Amino acid sequence: MNKKLNLFFIAQHIISASKAGVFPPPKVNLNFSTPRQAVMFADRCLLESFLSYLKDYSEYKINLDAKIIDLFCSCVSWKKKIILSGKLSSINPYYEPLLSMCSVSSLVLLMTHRCQLRCRYCIIRKYKEDSSIQVIKQACDSILSTRSNQPHIQFFGGEPLLCFDLLKEAVIYAEEAASKKNKKINFGINTNGILLGQKELSFFIAHGIVPEVSCDGDKKTFSASRSSSAYPKTLAALEALRISGMPYRIIMVVEPPTLCNMEKNYYFLRNLGHKEIQINYASGVIWSKDDMKFFADKLENIDAEERKKGYRLFNFKKGRKEPVALNSEFACDCNGDIYRETGLCLEKSFLSLKKKFYVAPSPAEACLELAETSKFENLWKLFSEYRNDSDILSLIINNVMFGSYLNKRFLLDGI
Ligand code: SF4
Repeated sequence: MNKKLNLFFIAQHIISASKAGVFPPPKVNLNFSTPRQAVMFADRCLLESFLSYLKDYSEYKINLDAKIIDLFCSCVSWKKKIILSGKLSSINPYYEPLLSMCSVSSLVLLMTHRCQLRCRYCIIRKYKEDSSIQVIKQACDSILSTRSNQPHIQFFGGEPLLCFDLLKEAVIYAEEAASKKNKKINFGINTNGILLGQKELSFFIAHGIVPEVSCDGDKKTFSASRSSSAYPKTLAALEALRISGMPYRIIMVVEPPTLCNMEKNYYFLRNLGHKEIQINYASGVIWSKDDMKFFADKLENIDAEERKKGYRLFNFKKGRKEPVALNSEFACDCNGDIYRETGLCLEKSFLSLKKKFYVAPSPAEACLELAETSKFENLWKLFSEYRNDSDILSLIINNVMFGSYLNKRFLLDGI
């Protein structure tokens, strides 16, 4: 426990120094070359110490000590509190790093709640509601008002191509609004590919929209989580994308039961000529330590083979931001509700997800940058919401540990 709390006290010293504008932080026997390093280190110390505390709680059923929980609670949103206190000035060396840690560059836009499919793990409520151009314009303005010079909008659903005309309007509006601010806006779309035809492809190419299509491998694996009747259409959409030469990505999700076929499924898609295949471990399920290692070993094998051909596995080119369980993108629902996607794979009910991770009733009322959270704050939020549900808490810790293991093993960014 002492070692964990030592990390916590290092974080506390850095926080006190940042409040007082003192750099380097005294009482911390570490050489930080910039205030940004110190600020990032403080958040990481908080995260690691809280995570190991929760891990003991989950593994050994050690009771949560209210005093220790209070200590961590006192550090939640510390950056925001300092910024809002108005005590920061340009003389304070922590000012810029604190603000840049709150920078938001991406927004997920739900275009519709309609979808032709009913995938086993999909929690998005299916009903007849589309977004509106008013909501979309506000959402675009909101992401363009952040400090990011290259914000990103990810079209999501339901199936966004069911409202292709609205999507086109959104892209044209966002591009014009971005150009007025001398910014460049990037777009991505998650699609099942069923409606992907020539006119959609041409529009994607003209506006640099990068499609992500879910396909977990061969027909048997694909059909385990969604209707097998969609398989030929998904493969046809992927083939059209391949022939077009435009950038696109396949998201291949591996679950514990399909882990043994991970390499087979990857090479199945690769042999169809697809290059950018991102292999994701499924979130929201418990992974054993052996399975975590097996997954990482397979990633390494695939990457080694790809390197021989002068290529790199997509995970290592860009990769997911691990631990995925602590990512927290802002999403805008069709009715304008802004919520976080934290907990996406833990909730069975979309309404319950929105309620727990609700941010604002409309994009116009959401100050995204002040609502931005760090990895430690996301872990705290998950803990606060699920502290009375030990099964879900164990799931969160397990998934965070998986991401953390991949980061450490492959030296990715993150914890
Ligand atoms: S295609 Fe996408 S939105 Fe539709 S059910 Fe499957 S996961 Fe959900």
